[in-house]
Parts: sequence; structure tokens; C-alpha cells
Amino acid sequence: MSSAIDNPQPSLPTQRLLGKVALVTGGASGIGESITRLFHIHGAKICIADLQDDLGNKVSESLGGEENVCFFHCDVTSEDDVSRAIDFTVAKFSTVDIVVNNAGISGSPCLDIRQADLAEFEKVFNINVKGVFHGMKHAARIMIPRKKGSIISLASVASATGGIGPHAYTGSKHAVLGLTKNVAAELGMHGIRVNCVSPYGVLTDLSLAHLPEDERTDDAKAGFVAFVGRNANLQGVELTREDVANAVLFLASDEAKYISGVNLMVDGGFTSVNHSLKVFRS
Ligand code: NAD
Repeated sequence: MSSAIDNPQPSLPTQRLLGKVALVTGGASGIGESITRLFHIHGAKICIADLQDDLGNKVSESLGGEENVCFFHCDVTSEDDVSRAIDFTVAKFSTVDIVVNNAGISGSPCLDIRQADLAEFEKVFNINVKGVFHGMKHAARIMIPRKKGSIISLASVASATGGIGPHAYTGSKHAVLGLTKNVAAELGMHGIRVNCVSPYGVLTDLSLAHLPEDERTDDAKAGFVAFVGRNANLQGVELTREDVANAVLFLASDEAKYISGVNLMVDGGFTSVNHSLKVFRS
């Protein structure tokens, strides 16, 4: 009897999303831009849904324009905006196979809950949780009748452990994981996969958002990279936006056709290991 070892799978196709259509929220910059660019390389048509019109249009133009990658102005806190972004994508490219709920903010640092500002808390939840909820809801509206689809949301290491970010951010990312599991439970019967991706620290605007713009210098960026490197589990390698995009690509592609309800950690083991070992070893 022949086995999978006798008949190995052919190597991965060079364009793993050929013929697929994706919507990426927050796709105009940061990790979302890297996801957009990688999806484009892999043959997908993409709609960027973001607040930043200039950047979104620039990314679209750099990838051959509207034919391949279009831009739709969208604030994910508005259900109407997200609903219209999904409808725009379907009108433009005939369907939507993949929705990436990537837009998110870190919110202001808060080391003392007694000083926590409720308005700030609500702002973070509105974007990070309500935004994801809107994306899932309107993705499902299109995907259920088509009996297929992949919904991927950006969570964070803060979805799995405390003390990494501000209270609102950590709470919001735990909520993204909860939504992912619950919606995966509902949509599995329709053939729709729902997952999230949880990166460790990556240098983007979000990582320096706590600094005023004129203090986001090269030194500040180097300081952030050194800080996350020092605290990382995996040494000798730096997490990049492209590494995160690769994890999202995997979950979007047919290689992940039986994967749903997972939180794919892209953290070099950060949330899995005992960090006090560092103290014993030093
Ligand atoms: P970023 O600030 O570089 O980019 C975020 C993008 O989202 C921007 O293009 C911005 O315009 C857009 N956006 C913000 N609010 C929006 C809204 N209301 N509606 C539509 N678009 C909006 O951030 P990033 O670092 O690329 O983060 C992307 C995702 O990855 C976030 O969900 C974040 O929480 C998560 N994440 C980031 C890191 C990190 O270290 N950078 C780590 C873990 C998780």
C-alpha cells in the first residue's frame, strides 16, 4: 500500500492565493501593508480598507493600481463603513474569499489602573474589538452563501499573557481571541475558517505610538528593537512585518484548509516558556 511518504506532495505553488480576493483592514501601512504586498505576490486581488487615503492609494499604485489592489476609505469602528468596504470589494472583484481584520491601535501606556481613562479604553475597544466584530460579521454575510472563506484577525502576544501592553490593549486582544473561537464555532458548518495571528513586538508606527511624532527617531526605533530583542525568547533572529504576513498568508491559503479556531503565535516561544530561566542562567 502506498503512503504519503511514497507519494510526497508537490512543492507549494508559487502563487498560493491565485484567483482569491482579499480585504485587508489597516492595509495602508505597517503589518497590514506587508500582508497586502505578500498577498499580491501570491496572486490575490486585494481591497485595502483604511483611514489613510494617501498611503492606501500609494500602496495600490505601487502594485499596479486598481486592477489588482484597490483602496476604500473605511473606519472599522463604523459598521456602515465596514459593510460598504466589503460590498465595494465584491462589486469590484466579484467575491471576497479572505478578510484580514488587521487595523488596530495600542492606545496610551497606562501603568496605574487608578489613572486609567475610560475614553481611551473605549477608543481601543472600538477599533480593536468592534472593528474585528464588524469585519467578521460582514465577511460572514458574503461567505456563508458561498460556503467557503477564511477570516484572520490580528491579535497579539497580549491575547495570551498579561503585562505586555496597556490594560485596554490586553483586554482587547483577549477579546479578539474569544471572538475568533466563537465565530469559528458558528461558521465551521458553512466551511468558513476563522483564526487569529499573535505576533510579538514588530517595529511599526504602532510600536512607537506612545512617543510624540518628533521623538520617533532612528535612535528610538533602535531602542525598541533592542528592547524586544532583549526580552525575546528566541535569540539571533529579529521578528519582521514580513514574518507576520507569512503566518497570515499560510492561514489564508489552502495549505491551512483544515485549520480553524487557532491563535497562531508568531512569538518565538515568548508566551510558551518560563522566562525566569533567564535569571537562573545569567
Ligand atoms: P500600524 O499602526 O503600523 O498600522 C495600523 C494600520 O491600521 C494603519 O494603516 C492605520 O491607518 C489603520 N487603522 C487604525 N485605525 C483604523 C480604523 N479605525 N479604521 C481603519 N484603519 C485603521 O500598526 P501595526 O503594528 O501594523 O499593527 C497591525 C495589527 O497588528 C494591530 O491589530 C496590532 O494590534 C497588531 N500587532 C502589532 C504588533 C506590533 O508590535 N507592531 C504586535 C502584535 C500585534
